[in-house]
Amino acid sequence: MKILIVNAGSSSLKYQLIDMNNENTIAKGQAERIGIQGSRLVQKARGQVYEISQPMKDHVEACRLMIDALTDQEHGVVKSMDEIGAVGHRVLHGGMKFTKSVVIDQSVLDAIEENIPLGPLHNPANLMGIKACQEVMPKTPMVAVFDTAFHQTMPPKAYLYGVPMEYYERLKVRRYGFHGTSHRYVSARTAEFLGKKPEELRIITCHLGNGSSVCAVAYGKCVDTSMGITPLEGVIMGTRSGSMDPAVVQYICNNDHLTVDEMLTICNKKSGLVGISGVSSDMRDVMAAADDGNERAIIARDMLVYGVKKYIGSYAAAMGGVDAIVFTAGIGENNDVLRAMVMENMEFLGAKIDPEKNQINGKEIDISAADSKVRVLVIPTNEEIAIARDTLQLVSAL
Ligand code: ADP
Repeated sequence: MKILIVNAGSSSLKYQLIDMNNENTIAKGQAERIGIQGSRLVQKARGQVYEISQPMKDHVEACRLMIDALTDQEHGVVKSMDEIGAVGHRVLHGGMKFTKSVVIDQSVLDAIEENIPLGPLHNPANLMGIKACQEVMPKTPMVAVFDTAFHQTMPPKAYLYGVPMEYYERLKVRRYGFHGTSHRYVSARTAEFLGKKPEELRIITCHLGNGSSVCAVAYGKCVDTSMGITPLEGVIMGTRSGSMDPAVVQYICNNDHLTVDEMLTICNKKSGLVGISGVSSDMRDVMAAADDGNERAIIARDMLVYGVKKYIGSYAAAMGGVDAIVFTAGIGENNDVLRAMVMENMEFLGAKIDPEKNQINGKEIDISAADSKVRVLVIPTNEEIAIARDTLQLVSAL
């Protein structure tokens, strides 16, 4: 079966067509600037790039163009959309309702809508993407895969904030966590890689990309994660501040006459690596500037390293030990210098890397030293495959 994976943002729609017979990607594309001047769709398939530049007023239009590109006589990869057995949608916030992926029906659409207050930036776009696909592919079954679902096994002591219980009960204020599909895929793959069952291992997965989160997976289940009610909490990220005393928001708002919304936009878009370094939100640029002696870049780099170290230490304590520490996503997979800095002086935990093995980037590898008790691995994430597998499994049971 061929499965289409869709990840809709507010002005973009990313897609990937996967042949589930061999899990190969047949085509990959992105519609950009939906509803904005200069919209275009770029598709990569068979080593060729196909670009359509034309106005897309909304996501329905973007879906139509996606179908045009996938079925194009010259550049397409399928004769008709009938060849596509199902669509898997990435959805940011499943709230407390979804502990795993589900086939989309009206009640699921309603629940995604209900969760808009929790995921105001992403859920409306995800919903638009689903509805647009349903409009242009009315007979194709669709599945929603939630970024939050994997973390729903956390116990209350890990997911509650210390505000009055009333806010949890009335407004569902709690830690939800994100990147769940990635942490689930990477932790399961780690167990496979080590020839063990997930139930035998305590794993700390470090998803370090533009957005970063760390997750404690004890015996196959998420028991804690660094992101919170939104993806703002945790370590510093490309443009997000990560955790801080909430009084910082009040102090800056009062002093600079900002609203809380304005301040949170600063925390989400202008903070983290870019805010501290003043150089870039991209870790490659920050590392290059740090290597040139830029002091702010050095501090930004060190803040990320220190933040990840602290999570590893605290999750090892929370799980009563750790069997594997895993690096994934853009930075985790490709930045050996950062991995080395995070793992420096971790011998007290029984974790030590082999500096030579660590220099290998971008592939699955055990980078632990021979005498390391804890396995330290690089496992490239593949959220699309995880979404495609869930989708195949759910639609096969229909
Ligand atoms: P997103 O969270 O948007 O999916 P990624 O997982 O691609 O982002 O991570 C982006 C980050 O990964 C950037 O900070 C970038 O510097 C880093 N990165 C991506 N590719 C590489 C690479 N080949 N070498 C070094 N760093 C990389």
